[in-house]
Formats: sequence, C-alpha cells, structure tokens
Amino acid sequence: MKFLQQLSIYTKVVLVLLFSTLSFVFFQYVSREYYSGQLGFIFLFSALIVLFEGFHFSLFVKILIALFLGVAIPFLDVIPHADLVVMRPVGSKIFMNFLTMALVPLVYSSILTGVVSLGDLSKLNRIGARTLTYYIVTTAIAITIGLLVANVVQPGNHIDPQVKEQFLGKFEEVAQKKVSQATKNKKTLFETVQSVFPKNILSEAGDERPNMLSLIFFAIVSGLALLKIDQKLAAPVIAFFMGITEMTIQLVIMAMRLAPYGVFAIIGSTIASTQSFDLLVALVPFSIAVIVGLFLHVTLINTVSLKLLSKKKNVLKIFASMKEVILTAFSTSSSGATMPLTLKTVKKDLGVGPDVAGFVIPLGATINMDGTALFQGVSALFLANIYGIHLTLGDQLTVIGMAVLASIGTAAVPGVGVVILTMILVSVNIPPEGILFILPVNNLLDMLRTAVNVIGDMVCAVYIDHVEKSRTS
Ligand code: ASP
Repeated sequence: MKFLQQLSIYTKVVLVLLFSTLSFVFFQYVSREYYSGQLGFIFLFSALIVLFEGFHFSLFVKILIALFLGVAIPFLDVIPHADLVVMRPVGSKIFMNFLTMALVPLVYSSILTGVVSLGDLSKLNRIGARTLTYYIVTTAIAITIGLLVANVVQPGNHIDPQVKEQFLGKFEEVAQKKVSQATKNKKTLFETVQSVFPKNILSEAGDERPNMLSLIFFAIVSGLALLKIDQKLAAPVIAFFMGITEMTIQLVIMAMRLAPYGVFAIIGSTIASTQSFDLLVALVPFSIAVIVGLFLHVTLINTVSLKLLSKKKNVLKIFASMKEVILTAFSTSSSGATMPLTLKTVKKDLGVGPDVAGFVIPLGATINMDGTALFQGVSALFLANIYGIHLTLGDQLTVIGMAVLASIGTAAVPGVGVVILTMILVSVNIPPEGILFILPVNNLLDMLRTAVNVIGDMVCAVYIDHVEKSRTS
C-alpha cells in the first residue's frame, strides 16, 4: 500500500491513534443496537493496516509488534474479551489457510524434485537413513532432557488437594473428550506402517487432514519412477513440479504479508479466552520445567549440532536467519502450517540445497517433534507426581520409546501433542484423564514446543546439507 507509506509520519501516527480510539469507543461505549456491530473491528483493523503497511518495519518487527499488541490489549481490557475471541478466524482461518492451502502440492513437488535431483537410489538411501537417524536420536534426547529436568523439579509434588478438586471440576469434561478422541484415532505401529501405502493418493491427500506419511511415500516413489523412465518423457514432468515448488514458495511470501494481522488475532483471542488464571499459578513449576527443558534442548543439542556436526562458526547468525519461522511456528502452534515458510527459509536464507531441503523439511515437519516429545516427558512425570505413582527407570524408558514413536504419528497441527500424550500415559499406568491438569497451560506450551519442533527440522537440514556438500567437495 504505497499511498500509506507516502503519508508523513505525523499523519500516520494521528491515523493510528484516531482509528484505535474510535475502535475502543465503539467496542466499549456505543451500544450494538445503534450500529451494525462491526464498526469496532473495522476501526481496529484500519489502525493495524496503517501501522503495518504505512511504516517501513521489517516483517519480523511487524510480527513482534503484533505479538505485543495481542498480549497487551486483552490485559489492558480496552476491548471486551468476547470481541477479541470473535476475531480469532483472521488468524486461525484466513492467515493459516492461506499459508497451508498449497501444503499438499508443495510437499509432493518438493520431495519429488528433491529425489530427482539426488539422482539415484543410493544417495536417497544415504540421506534418508541419516535424516531418520538424526530425527529419532534428537527426539529421544529431547524427552530424556524433559525427564531429567522433571526429575529434578518434581513439578507435581506441590499441588494441594483443594486445587486438585478445582481442576477436576473445571477440566474433567474436556479431558474426557480428548481421551476419547485419542482412543478413536489410535493406531498400532503396524497400522501406521500400513497407512504409509495409500490406496488412492488423491483421497488421502484430499482429506481435510491429509495423510502426510502416505503423501511423502508417494512423492518418493514418483521421483524414483521418473528417474527410471525415458528422460524425454520425464523432463516436462520434472520441470512442471519444479515450477509448482517455486510457485508455492511465492505463495508463502504473499501469505506472510498477512502474518502480523493473523498473529495479532490468534494471540489476542488466545489470551482473551484464557480462563482460570488462578489455576495457572499451580502450574508454574510444571511450565517452568517444560520451558527450561526446551531452552536446554535448543542451547545444547541444536547449538552443538550446528557447531560440531555442521561445523558452523556463527551459530547466532543461523538462529537469526530462522527468526521469522520461529515466530510463525510460535504464533500458529502448527509446524505443518509453518512448513512452507520453513522450506523457503532453509533454501533461501540458510543456503541448504533444494534437493536436501525438499526432502528433509517436509519429512521433519511430519515426523520430527523434539519440543512435543520433551513436553510429553515432563508431563508424564508431572502427572505421575500428582497421582503419587512412582515411575521406575523402566517406566521412564517406556515413556522415551513411546514418545519417539508417537512423534512420528503426531499430526503437525495445534494441540495434538496433548492428545497423543494420553497414549503415552496409558503405557505407564497413569490415568489418561490426567491431562486435565495440563490443559490451562497447554496453549502457551504448544506455541513454545512448536517453535522448538521447527528449529529441530531446520538444524537437521543444515546438518544433512553439510554432510552432502563435504562429500562432493
Ligand atoms: N503443535 C505441534 C506442532 O504442530 C504439535 C503439538 O505438540 O501439539 O508441531
């Protein structure tokens, strides 16, 4: 919006103040009977448009401002919380759908072209095996860190019985729903393996929740098939899908223009709909244990991987290049929705080759969830504390094994981590409804763990790229 940028700073500031004041006035003081009801929103978003489009802020700064406003406005109470909740679809639907609408073609085309440019099966096997090993090992380390921190903090030991009663009263029903959702979708390992082989890829990929594992499998074998057929026939197909990959990356750049508005709407509505602030206090030790664990994982494991495995000198610079991806994952709580941006960043800003990036990132978004696994480790111990159950070393090893397997099956969308957690709990005889003690902080922790999930994918891509490049140099 060029015309907004051409206004003087003074005019822009006045417009932002005017629109926001009008919005607050309409929301707070004018009865809905006297106007059609939408004017408050129109003024609010007009203020945001002038703020985000009129000034020359970078996208990162715009998202930070959106985050800040999303937290500050509900706390200042200038707009009724019910109204803030209503605007959630600006982020959860408009922004996130714009970002993900091309996810299926992007995953397919980027993996297919990645496999074709790897050139042969042995290279694919090598990269595939290394990527899978890296993902599994880092996930197992993440849960171990979670369990270690939780063993030290013992976060569930200090909740008094009265507070427990309050939790039961407020969250039992929601927890029950999640448990039955988990039971309904439960798959054995063998069933998960079977689901990798799609009967009809169009219906698998066309589902509202596409089966990503089968799409990845289909893309890999399509790429291998293209390598085997007459190159005259293969070339146009490959060129077509390369075009699709570039096109979808361009779509991501377009979608990211909506990021500040989407982030504002998601954060604002999340904070506005958070109830039970009193119960949050009881969960402070638990939340701190998760946050410390996530921090340790990023600073120890991801950093060590970049330094020692990928031989990168300036790790901070690499993290700085990831900043928009991290903020988007944090705000959307979905590594799936963030995946197109992750792929773009890894290729364009981290210099990872398109063949490696196209393979490692979609796979990572689907199966690698370090943050989620770490959260599940801390949660298992926390709930064991609450129920007075002693988790032996064997039990804790079971938790590690289950969480590694579960992270493969966990869909990369908001809130699934806690549903999968119920299955891990069952395996060590903790009542699965126990998740009710976690629900009040689940949204916040989901944001943080999703950010750690995508960092893990990017760090792995840098590592695999480093290994491949050192082989050829
Ligand atoms: N929201 C997470 C993700 O998309 C999954 C979870 O932990 O719930 O990576």
